[in-house]
Amino acid sequence: MKAFRFKEWKKSAQLEDVPVPDPCPGEVLIKVGGAGACHSDLHIMHEFDPASLPGLDGWQLPMTLGHENAGWIEAGDLAAYPHLELGAPVVVSPTWSCGVCAPCRQGATNYCEQEHLAGGIGRDGGLAEYMVAPAQTLIPLANLEPWKAAPLTDAGLTSYHAVKRCLPLLTPDATAVVIGAGGLGHMAIQVLRELSGCQIIVADTSETALKMAGDLGAHVCLPSDGTTADEIRKATGGLGATVILDFVGIDATLALAGQSARQRSEIVLIGIGGGTFPFQFGALPYACSLVTTYGGSTGELAELVALAEADRIHPHIEEFPLDQVASVYERLHKNEISGRAVLRP
Ligand SMILES: [Zn+2]
Ligand SMILES: [Zn+2]
Repeated sequence: MKAFRFKEWKKSAQLEDVPVPDPCPGEVLIKVGGAGACHSDLHIMHEFDPASLPGLDGWQLPMTLGHENAGWIEAGDLAAYPHLELGAPVVVSPTWSCGVCAPCRQGATNYCEQEHLAGGIGRDGGLAEYMVAPAQTLIPLANLEPWKAAPLTDAGLTSYHAVKRCLPLLTPDATAVVIGAGGLGHMAIQVLRELSGCQIIVADTSETALKMAGDLGAHVCLPSDGTTADEIRKATGGLGATVILDFVGIDATLALAGQSARQRSEIVLIGIGGGTFPFQFGALPYACSLVTTYGGSTGELAELVALAEADRIHPHIEEFPLDQVASVYERLHKNEISGRAVLRP
């Protein structure tokens, strides 16, 4: 089968022929229906290595990329999983957690103390014709086609988790700022719209992204430039925003997040752009929190799938055949993808 293989740190992955994998006990073989191309994969291919990021120690290369996956169950022992059946369409949760540590027992599988490897994240992923995944990570689909559901598992889930943990702050008189309306940000706008009644402000450098943000329900759409922080203050009665979600994570966007904050704001850094924020007394208004998040839990993925099955959120997708995967990542690098690119084997 064809698979997009990442063989060496700081080198591009390539489409190659590899054997169809065999599922181990507890795993199933998935016939991939669609796999999203994520900006993180560009960081994985071109910037990361185990020396700079200790979390990468356990990664086994070569590895098939693709951590945003959906398809149909092709084979595997499903006796212990009565909610699954052969041939059923499913999405694959990107958290392949241990199930028994304290965070897992609390349902926070994305903060598992034992396991942060998953398909496309240290183990073979879904930019291939087939992949294996633990049966416990699968959420069945009712009406959604797998290729349309694939972006829910990362672009959707990571955004959903980042928003959901801030919901107590997002009262109808509150404001959320979304910095970066790309693959993740365009989902965050919809999740904010569906889960809260707050004002939604979006900042992006791309006119196309801002147009889409407005269509998806953002109330104020601002070009990212020298005036953005002032405009955010104006739109919040001079006070600043309650929640700021930075989906980019470079110096400039972190600075904008800080300038947009008010007292007791929550700034959530999701984008792995590698920027820094100088933190000292007075760097932020009093009692602001600055946090990072990682993905979302498998339980949250089930909630998000329900939202999508109910036709209340829609990943904006550009679809491509798997053969074009290398050029899709080049386009992603040049910011030429609107919403999410999904590869279909
Ligand atoms: Zn990703
Ligand atoms: Zn665990």
